[in-house]
Amino acid sequence: MKNTLFIKKLKIDQTVANDMVITVYEFVSTKPGKTVYLQSSVHGAELQGNAVIYELFNYLKEVDFCGKIILVPLANPYASSQKSGTYTHGRFNPVTGDNWNRMYLDLCSLDQEQGGIDFKKFIESHGEKSAQEINKDFKKVIRKGFETYLKYHRDYGIDENKSLFIELQRLASEADIVLDLHTGARATRYIYSPECQEDKMKDINFPHYIVIPNEFGGAMDEASFMPWFKLSENFKKENIDYQYDFESYTVELGNEEVIDMDAAKNDAVNILNLLHQRDVLKDRPKVKKTKQYKCSLKDYKSYYAKAAGLCEYHIKPGEHFKENDLLCSIYKMDRLDERNAVTEIRALTSGIVIHQTPSASVKKGMELIQVFSNPVTL
Ligand SMILES: [Zn+2]
Repeated sequence: MKNTLFIKKLKIDQTVANDMVITVYEFVSTKPGKTVYLQSSVHGAELQGNAVIYELFNYLKEVDFCGKIILVPLANPYASSQKSGTYTHGRFNPVTGDNWNRMYLDLCSLDQEQGGIDFKKFIESHGEKSAQEINKDFKKVIRKGFETYLKYHRDYGIDENKSLFIELQRLASEADIVLDLHTGARATRYIYSPECQEDKMKDINFPHYIVIPNEFGGAMDEASFMPWFKLSENFKKENIDYQYDFESYTVELGNEEVIDMDAAKNDAVNILNLLHQRDVLKDRPKVKKTKQYKCSLKDYKSYYAKAAGLCEYHIKPGEHFKENDLLCSIYKMDRLDERNAVTEIRALTSGIVIHQTPSASVKKGMELIQVFSNPVTL
């Protein structure tokens, strides 16, 4: 085998009964190159990313590549084990109620005594250095930030929402490309990409892209790209030319509670296309080029239930619609004799359904579908 595989078991969480462990697979090439980090199932019901990691694992055993590729399936074991009936709950911390994917640490806004990055100091000492040296040293600064945070909070103890995710952030901090694998409830395949990566995002051969502001909202992709984005902004302020080479995306892989190995082969090829474009893989994967659409976050619209009732969804995730098309019909079963027994939800613009609530039983005000309103072809 050309590559070396390291397998690590890391204690990442703990319940009263036992330790919770994640398995980290690290493929290391003999040739230098980028480091790529992929994790899956931070939300416990979102399983398809594990199928993609399975495909990538088997692929990477055989092929020649450059750099290092880190795979972390079932990255949040506590969430993965939260069953309610046959359903995996796993989206919110059951103790605090917080969304598991909003708990990452923002090293750009923290006080420096808690690990916040001192950009001024870094730029003063790196204005003359090469991009390669800057990348190497800035990764060290990010890593040091987590150590400082843990040290600062050691005496009183670390909030459970932070301790789990700092470990994942630490693992991702040596990477140049971070992919956080999620799914929707009922959804098509789509990518969250920040504006600062808009020219690069389409190299993951996915059909749909939501372009989000260059801001921190608590998710892994944002926690990963914000330090690099801020670094480049700070260099710009000093009129120093520095092009950073970092990318991170949230990759949404269809429906939750599903493992589909045929689809995973295709998902893996689409992700490998990105790695080929970034010189991690020499051979070009056999990609079936997808038609691609993007939408800014402000045009990513939700249609809400104007009345409670039983909802029929007429346009499925991934399907296109025109203005005034019927999107949903909500049936009010206690008013069948009245004229308003059916509430119609019609499209206000043309668009694409991206995400749908899985239940047909809806209360007033529930989010029914999320759509690209007036999508732009890439
Ligand atoms: Zn998710």
